[in-house]
Amino acid sequence: MMTEKKVESMSIMSNAFNPVIKEHMEGVYSATLPIAGMVWIETGEGAVLIDTLLNVASAEKVVDKIKEKIKYIIYTHGHADHVGGAKAFIKDSPKILASIYLPDRFERYEFLEPYRNLIAAMQFNIPVKAFGKGLRDYVYPTETFMGDYTFKLGNKTFECHSGRAETDDVVWIYIPEINTACIGDLMIGQMFPNIGNPWKPTRFALDWAKELERIRALEPKYIFCNGGGHLYEGNNVKEALNANIEVIRSLHDQVVKYINEDVHISEMIHMVQIPDHLKKSPYLKQLYSRPEFFVYNLYRWYHGYYDHNPAHLLPRPEKEVMKEIFALIGDAEKVINHARNLLEQGKPQLALQILDVLIQAEPENTEAIKLQIELLTNLSAKDRCLMSKNCFLFHIKQDKLTLRKIRKNSIK
Ligand SMILES: [Zn+2]
Repeated sequence: MMTEKKVESMSIMSNAFNPVIKEHMEGVYSATLPIAGMVWIETGEGAVLIDTLLNVASAEKVVDKIKEKIKYIIYTHGHADHVGGAKAFIKDSPKILASIYLPDRFERYEFLEPYRNLIAAMQFNIPVKAFGKGLRDYVYPTETFMGDYTFKLGNKTFECHSGRAETDDVVWIYIPEINTACIGDLMIGQMFPNIGNPWKPTRFALDWAKELERIRALEPKYIFCNGGGHLYEGNNVKEALNANIEVIRSLHDQVVKYINEDVHISEMIHMVQIPDHLKKSPYLKQLYSRPEFFVYNLYRWYHGYYDHNPAHLLPRPEKEVMKEIFALIGDAEKVINHARNLLEQGKPQLALQILDVLIQAEPENTEAIKLQIELLTNLSAKDRCLMSKNCFLFHIKQDKLTLRKIRKNSIK
């Protein structure tokens, strides 16, 4: 995943990446970028890499710093910021280990490329083409596994465990000799877990908590997470694990309760709450994801699309419905004025949804588009969650493009 800092520095596709390299204990290193991280461990008989940074250009700046022959690369999962740099590290033909499900992910990235370019643009507020081919330059694993896989190299043991959490292809690694766990994105630097991304397939909340509980049971002294970009040590390890596990289990149980009570999803996202004592937890800052995304995500995992409203079982296209509703209102100004009133009452989201009737019925109504820009600007200005904020900003850009096109056509 990409963090706030990562997104801020989002000339993401620039090759001007200079990883910061640190030796944390003898033979244990991390290389971090604002947008990715990796760890490598030198064992006396070869190096083991855990993740590979985002792209080959940045990985090439690390490869010369690795003193031993690279014997293994382990992917913690198939997200681009963990696997994108692998090509820089394969000169010595290392064994590349990953979950059994990781190759399916690479395949999916290939056939969904246009869609993935679009959603990356929304999620990170970058140009639609930015992800492009460079980031698809994936190196497939040479060996996959499911469950547990342990190997020894030199003076270290690598206990690898596959599971489901942020993705279905998660692998986390425990190295007993240094009491260290490398857990990929199972925790992200002091932020609310990324369980729920509006553009991505469902994530696995309950399994996620269980994997974190397995990690906690090992009582690690050090945890590298967020790729290798963040190191927890000492008391922070336990506190961070406890906060993440508790928030996941609490939100999970609330969603389950509301599904069983047949609460509508549009109500559920406002009802589910982070427990009070965790609301200000330093380990759960809502800078990247947010509880509403968690709720949608889990709902999609446990619940079908049908929301128990018969009007929604086999609906007509939304545009057609909005046109009918707008025909009943019959007055664009009325919709615009009402949306503006709602904004003035401090209800920009409701205003956005009401205005949407007009936007969908008359997609070239410039006054409506201008008001939508105003509403999205209002929403984005208050939003600390990078994914929702970037989404609003993306659509502001799209609206401005539409306005330009309409102006151009009217001049012709
Ligand atoms: Zn990830």
